[in-house]
Amino acid sequence: MFNVDLLIIGGGLVGASLATAVRSHPLAKDLRILLVDPSPPSTQSWPPTSLRTSTISPSSKMFLDDIGVWDRIPVDRIAVFDRMFVWDHPYPLPATPSNTEVSKAPAGTIVFDANDIEQDHLGYVLDNDTLRNAMFRRIGDIVGGGSQGLQVIQGSVKTIKFVDDESESHVPEEEDSAPWPVVELESGETIQCRLIAACDGSRSRVRTICGADWFQYGYGQNAVVANVELKDIITTAYQRFVPTGPVAVLPVSTEDTLAPVGNVIWTTTPAEARALMAADETDFINELNIVLAAHEDEDQVFASSFYPPESDQNPALWRLVAKGLQVVLPKSAAENKVLNFIPPPEATRVIGKRGQFPLTLGHSPQYVLRKKRTVLVGDAAHSVHPLAGQGVNLGFADAQSLADCIASAAGTGRDLGGENGAPLMRYQSERITSNLGMIGVLHGLQRVFGVQNPTFRDFRRVGISALNFANPLKKIILRAMR
Ligand SMILES: Cc1cc2nc3c(=O)[nH]c(=O)nc-3n(C[C@H](O)[C@H](O)[C@H](O)COP(=O)(O)OP(=O)(O)OC[C@H]3O[C@@H](n4cnc5c(N)ncnc54)[C@H](O)[C@@H]3O)c2cc1C
Repeated sequence: MFNVDLLIIGGGLVGASLATAVRSHPLAKDLRILLVDPSPPSTQSWPPTSLRTSTISPSSKMFLDDIGVWDRIPVDRIAVFDRMFVWDHPYPLPATPSNTEVSKAPAGTIVFDANDIEQDHLGYVLDNDTLRNAMFRRIGDIVGGGSQGLQVIQGSVKTIKFVDDESESHVPEEEDSAPWPVVELESGETIQCRLIAACDGSRSRVRTICGADWFQYGYGQNAVVANVELKDIITTAYQRFVPTGPVAVLPVSTEDTLAPVGNVIWTTTPAEARALMAADETDFINELNIVLAAHEDEDQVFASSFYPPESDQNPALWRLVAKGLQVVLPKSAAENKVLNFIPPPEATRVIGKRGQFPLTLGHSPQYVLRKKRTVLVGDAAHSVHPLAGQGVNLGFADAQSLADCIASAAGTGRDLGGENGAPLMRYQSERITSNLGMIGVLHGLQRVFGVQNPTFRDFRRVGISALNFANPLKKIILRAMR
């Protein structure tokens, strides 16, 4: 039987970063830590087997830097993006409009630019395999460097025995603390631990075993994910909202292909997702190019930000709204911004396989399960829609906050997971507030963009165009995502 202070269950991006963060903290150097996961990091360099990429915010990058992971990522696999184009457009695409007098970006477009916040980049894009590999290399270096305090084993959790499940008490050390749980792996191996960090993803087995509350909402959408070759290199993250859901293309960096590469995250109905998975490569690429093209003809920029071409049903209303906006919004800003819209380059080929993931919103009202000596982290505590690429960034912020609490508790000789959860309550209060805020925003966006009533859609597009010129508001949004 293993006997440890901290058992991290799940060595995905969040669990592996938590192990590294705790071990890197000087106050936690005496803790015995064990990380358990069924799968070792992928050894295949290209194309990545996980298919998934993550946009990494500058603050997550800083965290990965601090824990010694960032400099273990091969430089040629780090893509940066300095702009984000988000646009709302009906599908099938409209014909060329006649009215081009006001601007040259599609209505309902918002452009986020690193220059808006005086930065070089808005964020980074990495495939999950490369990032997880870098984390395990860092862990390997720690273990190989003679640290007795961190071990990694391959395995999958089967059950957990809590002492209140039976009369036998495992470690009756502190009077006001729950006894230590005993975790059993599928292999039959057992681990007794002071604290369990459940990092086993959105379908967390640990959370289920603990009987923790979990609010869940199914979006009725799947994300189809693929890497594709592009005609041109991109340093922009694209996201287009069509009635079936957002379709995103992120830059991917690799020296393994001569052509530029993008990662596609195509959110859609389960039925269309099945069709996209079954489609042959040519059909998939054709569909992708149609769904991403800003326009049907070669002149990719068109239309008025203020007179959406398909709003013929209420031109009087549009003229009124447009007049109002033209008074309120400075024309010079409009001219500068709209010319910045550059549509995504054509995709030419799929690289490797396609994959699909069902999308759900999930949240646990308690991250610290006081009587179970267990804490929920990352997707085990909250899972969000990928439309703004925030999931793992929230998870890294969890790992950072929890590592800090664990280190403070260890440094002052407190019982991690004991004292009725008191040493970890700062983690819970810090992270629940922040995660719920982001969940609210993402869910709100998903709902707002899901409405297809034509009048509402027209208003939505005017609202987005207006937001595009409201620089202070854009700065607030960008800062919140950092
Ligand atoms: C299509 C898509 C695109 C996304 N894009 C982005 C993005 O651009 N940016 C972003 O920030 N986020 C993104 N996300 C979200 C992000 O991928 C997740 O938030 C993140 O992977 C969660 O990490 P995690 O370590 O908490 O969970 P997971 O990645 O699910 O890892 C859980 C780990 O636990 C292990 N495990 C499971 N069960 C057991 C068990 N019984 N015993 C032991 N171990 C177990 C698993 O093997 C796994 O390694 C995206 C998600 C999707 C679906």
